[in-house]
Amino acid sequence: MAALTFTRLCGLALSMAAVTLLAGSALAKAPELPDTVPVPQLNRSGPGSEAAPADVPVPEPRPVDLPADQSEPPATPPTPAEKPAQAAPPAGAPTPPEKAPAAAERKILPDPRSATLPEAKMPEEELACRRRLKSMGVDFEEHKAEHDPAIGCSIPYPIALKTLGKSVAIGPEAEMNCAMAEAAARFAADVIEPAVKAKFGTQLKSVGQASAFVCRPRHAGGKLSEHAFGNALDIASFTLADGRKIEVGPAPPDPDAQFLDMVRKAACGPFKTVLGPGSDADHSLHFHLDLEPRRHGGTFCQ
Ligand SMILES: [Zn+2]
Repeated sequence: MAALTFTRLCGLALSMAAVTLLAGSALAKAPELPDTVPVPQLNRSGPGSEAAPADVPVPEPRPVDLPADQSEPPATPPTPAEKPAQAAPPAGAPTPPEKAPAAAERKILPDPRSATLPEAKMPEEELACRRRLKSMGVDFEEHKAEHDPAIGCSIPYPIALKTLGKSVAIGPEAEMNCAMAEAAARFAADVIEPAVKAKFGTQLKSVGQASAFVCRPRHAGGKLSEHAFGNALDIASFTLADGRKIEVGPAPPDPDAQFLDMVRKAACGPFKTVLGPGSDADHSLHFHLDLEPRRHGGTFCQ
């Protein structure tokens, strides 16, 4: 019995020593494994690995980028789909060689809306939007889908606006998506027309637009403009029934300035981005209004 017990004790001691050794060696190797093996694999597995690391830092600098150039680029929030790729960023650190080229190529950040193509049958929400436009007396016509994969612009169901309501024209004809058209028509009826009446005692006759859908890359890179998705409208002037023309500019005369101020302030909310004179050099002669999708439904008004 004693011998047997001794043998067992020895066996136990040996196995404990073995466990200790194994544990020790495992601990010693542990720090190396996570760094090298799993990390590079994660980084290369995803084709969008370049976009992933880029995405994470981007959302933060956005507010800063805006005032710098067209601030219309803050459209990046729509890339939440790529967020799951965030797992890659920690891996990105150990692989600096891949990061450098990625940053250089990322002049224009990808936008999921760029891949949107029209379906065979127009979605009900688009049809409903058109019915609402018609009920507001808006005159418009259907345009063929806009899609340029090279630049990234896309409007699956564009319309060309001829008026913003029964008695308010828009010129020249403005191409945009239906949601933007509806927002513009409602804004004209709810804000611009009453402001004209209150400030000048007359009717709004027409709105002069400086640009709507524009398929071009941004000069400074960054994000695609909301104009590339027909999701923006630049308003440069308002013509009244008495022939008077109120132009957006850096130093309008007084009654005009008050009217423009009213309109600009009221635009923040119905539109998610509102820019104009004082925002930056690109917006000194028009109001930029858009429906850029932002996280938490936020606005950027400057
Ligand atoms: Zn604009």
